[in-house]
Amino acid sequence: MQASETRYRRLFEAAHDGILILDANLGQIVDVNPFLVNLLGYSKEMFLGKKIWDLGLFRDVVSSQGAFQELQEKGYVRYDDLPLETKDGKRIDVEFISNVYLVDLEKVIQCNIRDITESKVAKEALIKSKEDLEAVNKELENYTYVVSHDLKEPLRSIEGFSQFLTEDFGDKLGDTGKEYLDRIVKASGRMSNLITDLLTLSRIGRKDIEFHMVDLNNMMKGIEVDLAEMLKRSNGRIEYKKLPTILCQPTWMTEVFRNLIENGLKFNKSQVPTVTITSREKSGEYELSVSDNGIGIEPKYFERIFKLFERLHSRKEYEGSGAGLAITKSIILNHKGKIWVGTSEPGKGTTFKFTLPKDNQVP
Ligand code: ADP
Repeated sequence: MQASETRYRRLFEAAHDGILILDANLGQIVDVNPFLVNLLGYSKEMFLGKKIWDLGLFRDVVSSQGAFQELQEKGYVRYDDLPLETKDGKRIDVEFISNVYLVDLEKVIQCNIRDITESKVAKEALIKSKEDLEAVNKELENYTYVVSHDLKEPLRSIEGFSQFLTEDFGDKLGDTGKEYLDRIVKASGRMSNLITDLLTLSRIGRKDIEFHMVDLNNMMKGIEVDLAEMLKRSNGRIEYKKLPTILCQPTWMTEVFRNLIENGLKFNKSQVPTVTITSREKSGEYELSVSDNGIGIEPKYFERIFKLFERLHSRKEYEGSGAGLAITKSIILNHKGKIWVGTSEPGKGTTFKFTLPKDNQVP
């Protein structure tokens, strides 16, 4: 008994939370720990023997004897965020929990008082900086949209006049002139693709997109039609069965699957390039996998490939701008999911995985 009493005392004295012990019948304060004395700035004597409702300090919890009765009957009371005033008039915010215990057949009430002022300020600052960041992102998105849109205009002029040059002065240009012109046309074509990718990226976060229930099996059928030419050329296959019906933005989700499937077929040297789509139900989410029997990716590049315009190969080896996975990731994030390289082995193939919450809220 003695040992356990000593242990309790030590905890009480050293606690980094305020503790107040009350006689449950009389409502009188019988003990207060040093932390609370320090936190509130009143002396220990100021507390001892006082009825808690007379103290005024905790008027939001116990303003009267009646309220105290209620506290005692409930047994457990908790306030997550309660304002208190210290002796020197400073306002602090605390979490207040009170429990009724039986000690030697006597009922006592223990009140634990935790100062949450700093964590509350930090939380509010975090919310504020998140809001600021969102506003900056939104502005950046709009800016990207406007700039990419405006860049299309002069590019159309370059493409148009290059064509006029070929048509009207082609015979005067000579072989070198024609080759230069050809390069200009190709470069502006690539630039046009890059601008289209930027425009796509800047549109993903827009609020006006609508979410619908979509049967992914039907979506795959549509993608097979879209990629028919590529499948025929590469002798490729897309395999899937029993995929779920999910709430998503159909156009963007099609873009996700099309990007991943196209990559699986493109970065592939197998006789029969095959991309397999499977789904696994987990608590609260679907985990989708897109696997291929392609060239694979070295683990050190698993993160880098999701960055905008990052590519591991030259355009001569494999066509592409390096925006596909950045767009894919952005769409998945907008659907509140995650995407990553599940497994990949150079020469054997790659599995991309991503999650989609089942109760996807329309953003
Ligand atoms: P792009 O396909 O236009 O090159 P992506 O953003 O889709 O751009 O992909 C970025 C890079 O990641 C690719 O250039 C390629 O090196 C690598 N990659 C993507 N998917 C695969 C895959 N299924 N197998 C092997 N490498 C891949």
